[in-house]
Amino acid sequence: MRILLIEDDELLGSGICKALTREAYTVEWVKDGQEGLSAATHETFDLVILDLGLPTLDGLSLLINLRESKSSVPVLILTARDTLQEKVAGLDAGADDYLVKPFELVELKARIRALCRRACGQNNSVVELGRLKLDTSAMTVWFDDQVIELNRREYALLLEFVNHPGRILTRSHLEDLIYGWEGDVSSNAIEVHIHHLRKKLDSSLIATVRGIGYRFNEN
Ligand code: CA
Repeated sequence: MRILLIEDDELLGSGICKALTREAYTVEWVKDGQEGLSAATHETFDLVILDLGLPTLDGLSLLINLRESKSSVPVLILTARDTLQEKVAGLDAGADDYLVKPFELVELKARIRALCRRACGQNNSVVELGRLKLDTSAMTVWFDDQVIELNRREYALLLEFVNHPGRILTRSHLEDLIYGWEGDVSSNAIEVHIHHLRKKLDSSLIATVRGIGYRFNEN
């Protein structure tokens, strides 16, 4: 899952980035409204976490602009302003959920999982697909009822496949998902992760679609 965080508070922003990166999310962090709007409209994210009080463009205006551009990306608002009118205004402008500061990171993480489940049409944190089972709240993977140890990037890739079974995922989509703005990604990085996933699971699970990318076969 690739998340865009738009938050100008250094301490809070870096805390969120660290916590979410540990959970196998790829987080891109911008600190002002204009830059945030540009990233949200020009790139693909699974979720936007949006602070309301931002320099150059406030969060509510950003959200209105984003929805006017026909983006349906799930948006979670972070706000210190806990008045009822502001929560209502945020939800009316197209936010999917909100969290009032200060909040606990465990609550933020649970709300992110809930929004991602909803976006993928799942109703609980355990996803079963053929011989594979994932508990997304515990980041645990079973294959044929055996626990499989995956690193953060392997887990993130597998989750993306499980969320899109049968669909071809391009290599550039997967590179964005796993590496985001890190840059300097070696050209075979994704191939290497896929190789490890096939070894740890079953080689037939992820098919290579020559010249395009990969497809997950549920069996
Ligand atoms: Ca702020």
